[in-house]
Amino acid sequence: MKNLISFLLVLSASYSYAWQIQGKEYQFEKLNDQVYVIHGPQADPSKDNEGFMNNPGLILAKNGAIVVDPGASSNIGRKVFNEIRKITDKPILAIINTHNHGDHWLGNEGIQENYPNIKIYSHEKMLQQARDEGQNWIEIMEVMTNYATKGTKTVPPTDGLSHLTEINIDGEIFRAHIPNDLGHSDSDLMIEHVGSKTIFMGDNLFNNRLARAPADIHKNMASLKYAIDLGMNHYIPGHGPSGTANSAVKPYLDYFQIIMNEAKKAYDDGKADFEIKPDVNKKLTNYHSWSGYEDSYGKHLNKLMMEIEARDF
Ligand SMILES: [Zn+2]
Repeated sequence: MKNLISFLLVLSASYSYAWQIQGKEYQFEKLNDQVYVIHGPQADPSKDNEGFMNNPGLILAKNGAIVVDPGASSNIGRKVFNEIRKITDKPILAIINTHNHGDHWLGNEGIQENYPNIKIYSHEKMLQQARDEGQNWIEIMEVMTNYATKGTKTVPPTDGLSHLTEINIDGEIFRAHIPNDLGHSDSDLMIEHVGSKTIFMGDNLFNNRLARAPADIHKNMASLKYAIDLGMNHYIPGHGPSGTANSAVKPYLDYFQIIMNEAKKAYDDGKADFEIKPDVNKKLTNYHSWSGYEDSYGKHLNKLMMEIEARDF
């Protein structure tokens, strides 16, 4: 009887701590022996998701764990921490942030409040950016979530990484990949967990969803090709399902390549983006179901035409 009661208590406790958003449950999924990911909602920040939309990662080391991108607010960071506790009760040894966009790093406080001296790694540029632009990101998130993220405090990164820097955290080697000065943003850090041949791509990679406004699509594409050439076993996008180079990276690269080919043709023929938009739309049939497609593909076409023109001078 006592066993049954404790079993029921454990059962009800795990139910009450399940992280649910609009009827869907979010939890860490195991990618390999050491790496876990919560694949966040495929929607824009809202009151319902409290801004949560990215893919927080967890890497298990011998004496602790490392967290990547703990989400869009202090409270989301706390929910990520709660999910970590279902995987391991060991201490969190470090946080890694993939870039300066608020949906990825405003959750730092939810982890850091438990470990005040924790190291937070990022692209070296982000150290200052997070201090300069953090408040702005907080306000953007508050407005988009109808103030569901209120109370979030910025906890900027502490340690900057440059291209091919390696860090050793509790015996786990992480290698920084920053092959270009721009891509999705100007502070993109792709971080490789060497032992498991896993790479966290940040927002250089989306899958089943499209980025709003990449800083430079040519360079974003170059970073995707660079990452494919690394020959990793596991690729984790900033948003959308993880997979292999073929299943998770190629589709996003092909999407940009299709638009690029059409944009180049139009540029050579002296046509404007709106003239070729319907043809581009037809060539992108495979992407019509991707989240954000309708809002984004025309903007990406326009951006690529401007990049092509700028590079022609
Ligand atoms: Zn993002």
